Amino acid sequence: MREVILPGSIEELWRCLDDKPQASVYAGGTDLLVKMYNGLFDPEALICLDRIEELKEVGEQGGSIRIGACATHSGLLEDPLVRKRLPALWKAIGGIGSPPVRNMGTIGGNICTASPAGDTLPPLYAMKAEVELLSREGSRRVPIPEFITGPGATCLKRAEILSAVWVKKPEGYNLHHFEKVGLRSALACSVVSMAALLRLRPEGIVEKAALAWGSVAPTVFRCPEAEEALAGKPLCAESLSKAAELVRDGVSPISDLRADADYRRAVAGNLLLRLVDIADEGKGR
Ligand SMILES: Cc1cc2nc3c(=O)[nH]c(=O)nc-3n(C[C@H](O)[C@H](O)[C@H](O)COP(=O)(O)OP(=O)(O)OC[C@H]3O[C@@H](n4cnc5c(N)ncnc54)[C@H](O)[C@@H]3O)c2cc1C
Repeated sequence: MREVILPGSIEELWRCLDDKPQASVYAGGTDLLVKMYNGLFDPEALICLDRIEELKEVGEQGGSIRIGACATHSGLLEDPLVRKRLPALWKAIGGIGSPPVRNMGTIGGNICTASPAGDTLPPLYAMKAEVELLSREGSRRVPIPEFITGPGATCLKRAEILSAVWVKKPEGYNLHHFEKVGLRSALACSVVSMAALLRLRPEGIVEKAALAWGSVAPTVFRCPEAEEALAGKPLCAESLSKAAELVRDGVSPISDLRADADYRRAVAGNLLLRLVDIADEGKGR
């Protein structure tokens, strides 16, 4: 039997890591335990972070929201701060897996898994989130694109954990959108996903855009060229088509069991075209 250690506080966690330096930490286990079950990972021991309440806290500090790494997806869906202030992230979380997966899975686990298809990642990139990394020596904050160094890879050091994610309240935006295309409507990993935050003037001119795509590159794809192409233009089929071409040129998707690269490239642009409808319906506001 593999040992599973359940520290109840951060101090206890450091002692556990001193005793078992080779142990792997985990939170909900919805990624890690599945990997172990499939024989892809065989850690010497496991340290579960689930009993450390301080890693689950969500709060406001100045103009930012700090989300504890071990906050579950279900918990965040119920959180008024996340729902009201971070609607694109809230929408992304609502589409993860199924209720049992959301009850166990955490935002920190989604970030640390660093999958190109991780649903919380496009909104976090679009909002320029930073991760807070904690070790016995202290904490450091790292912008999320520097934290995730490749598919499944992060710059997390040994005996360091992800303690929280910091997101500046995206006050200036009045359209907050997340959409994922999967192979079915529930329990589907994304084939392509997109987070879009727009500041729209009342007459429909885009003042500012923050865009990010999942599943179309080794890590989340940002397209400053498309953001610049939209700025100052009306939100219409013509301006979005031009921006969508820039996106299709920039992505580097793979073909896999879920979709081929050409399909992903086409859908990445098409998701942008949908923003006219989203704005018309007032859905993203
Ligand atoms: C049936 C099913 C459906 C799913 N559907 C989706 C989906 O639609 N969208 C999606 O994005 N994901 C999906 N997932 C993947 C998974 O549920 C999410 O990525 C979830 O957020 C992982 O969180 P967790 O706490 O369970 O991670 P864990 O499995 O506990 O950990 C994942 C990885 O992160 C590390 N880790 C976790 N927390 C920390 C921390 N605080 N500090 C340092 N390292 C840490 C672990 O060592 C491990 O390597 C699905 C999984 C299943 C089984």
